[in-house]
Amino acid sequence: MERTLSIVKPDGVQKNVIGEVISRFEKNGLRVVGLKMLALSKKEAEGFYIVHKARPFYDSLTAFMSEGSIVAMVLEGDNAIDKVRTIMGATNPKEAASGTIRADFAADIERNIVHGSDSTASALFEIPYFFSALELA
Ligand code: UDP
Ligand code: MG
Repeated sequence: MERTLSIVKPDGVQKNVIGEVISRFEKNGLRVVGLKMLALSKKEAEGFYIVHKARPFYDSLTAFMSEGSIVAMVLEGDNAIDKVRTIMGATNPKEAASGTIRADFAADIERNIVHGSDSTASALFEIPYFFSALELA
């Protein structure tokens, strides 16, 4: 069993696909063990994406991630980290496999609907960024 952090980004909330995203995870055998809706400040978005601080898209990405409400969740299952990444599709929706969340709903490489931890180390940083131990089932 493995846990990973996923986020329905502000564009996903705006496009009314919160349920669709969660449903795709559930249909693939993942369990929701933590769930919350919140809005990040610019500083909080910068902290979450600190690993990308030196990248040219950092300022635009963190402005986008703080433009509206998001839904953060912890998903649990066999191979949860890779499974979520597969269901999401590639970062750039133009390269995302058909039937993935990003291929179906993302507007562009930045506004791509969903986040998923990319490694065990990332999940260990990202899960407690949003959830205390008491908030996880
Ligand atoms: N992003 C962007 N431009 C890029 C690459 C990434 O705006 O050239 C944004 C996009 O929203 C992406 C996020 O930054 O989801 C984090 O980038 P990462 O490479 O970690 O992609 P992910 O792990 O989300 O697929
Ligand atoms: Mg990433």
